[in-house]
Amino acid sequence: MGYALGVQVLQEPAPEYLALMTAQERKVIIIGSGPAGLTAAIYAARARLQPLVIAGGQYGGQLMLTSDVENYPGFPEGILGPELMERFRAQAERFGADVRPVDAIRVDFTGPQHGVWTDDAEFRAPAVIVATGASALWLGLDSEAALRGKGVSSCATCDGAFFAGKDICVVGGGDTALEEALFLTRFGRSVTVIHRRNELRASKIMQERARNHPAISFVWDSVVEDILGNGRVTGVRLRHVKTGEVTERPCDAVFVAIGHRPNTELFAGQLDLDAKGYVVSADGVHTSRLGVFVAGDVWDVRYRQAVTAAGMGCRAAMEAEHYLVGLGVAGS
Ligand SMILES: Cc1cc2nc3c(=O)[nH]c(=O)nc-3n(C[C@H](O)[C@H](O)[C@H](O)COP(=O)(O)OP(=O)(O)OC[C@H]3O[C@@H](n4cnc5c(N)ncnc54)[C@H](O)[C@@H]3O)c2cc1C
Repeated sequence: MGYALGVQVLQEPAPEYLALMTAQERKVIIIGSGPAGLTAAIYAARARLQPLVIAGGQYGGQLMLTSDVENYPGFPEGILGPELMERFRAQAERFGADVRPVDAIRVDFTGPQHGVWTDDAEFRAPAVIVATGASALWLGLDSEAALRGKGVSSCATCDGAFFAGKDICVVGGGDTALEEALFLTRFGRSVTVIHRRNELRASKIMQERARNHPAISFVWDSVVEDILGNGRVTGVRLRHVKTGEVTERPCDAVFVAIGHRPNTELFAGQLDLDAKGYVVSADGVHTSRLGVFVAGDVWDVRYRQAVTAAGMGCRAAMEAEHYLVGLGVAGS
């Protein structure tokens, strides 16, 4: 049974769409395999749209980079990020989603059949769901990668609660860094903001709040040269950018809050993007192109959570189905 979303349902598929259906033709293509993409895949597959998921070389999205996830509903004991994503994938495949661990390298959304290219194939579909996420920016240290999920994080909402009563460092100087620092004061014994300049980029109001908070202190003009610890974070090595002095500061967690980059290079010139590269959408589902929908962190600059991304994946798939029913490509 389809969703009754108030469209006029055509009983027979429109001939121009049927004529275009070849071996590489799909009803819906989903780009991305994080919580947004794979939830869209579950909904589209259960609606019998046999979605193709261009899952990306880095299959599974950002949760593959973390260990315990304690705020995804349905797992009272928590679940490991990669295991959660395996479950998303298994659920989508159970209903017939075709998940391929390859990157989309080119798109053409000028329609009406949208094109998506991988290294060795071209696919066409009247509906595409863009769920390519955003990547947290990291410092680029080997120790940072080794200790990710073991005290190194880029998400205070996700991981702050693991550091109750601990000493926490936050790296960055913008609004996000100060928001993260303020949030972390709920858990940490101390929160130290490490910034490479001697003034903050954050808004005045955020600066005031952070500077007036008794648990927050600042280390200025300093960069993190290394994150210390073997199996878990025990401190940071800092270099003063003006004097060159190197010091070590003990801490239990390092939250890197230097920004995110949406994965949208592929869509430049094809979709409206904002100044930071996020997909523009008035309602968080529809894009500037008919038949192209968006879901998850590639649009959402505010919540950036697995459950919100999954919810958006559901919405995008339902809207895609609604669109396909209107075209006569999907049954009612
Ligand atoms: C360290 C860390 C810990 C986190 N912990 C939690 C937590 O505990 N709880 C929580 O709710 N949230 C957590 N988050 C946030 C959560 O992971 C994100 O909000 C969520 O993953 C966003 O889902 P998404 O599907 O929009 O995008 P993503 O998860 O970013 O997935 C995007 C997908 O698109 C793919 N892709 C990109 N470009 C292409 C391309 N050209 N072709 C094909 N595929 C492409 C990527 O490979 C990836 O698979 C955490 C994030 C991080 C970084």
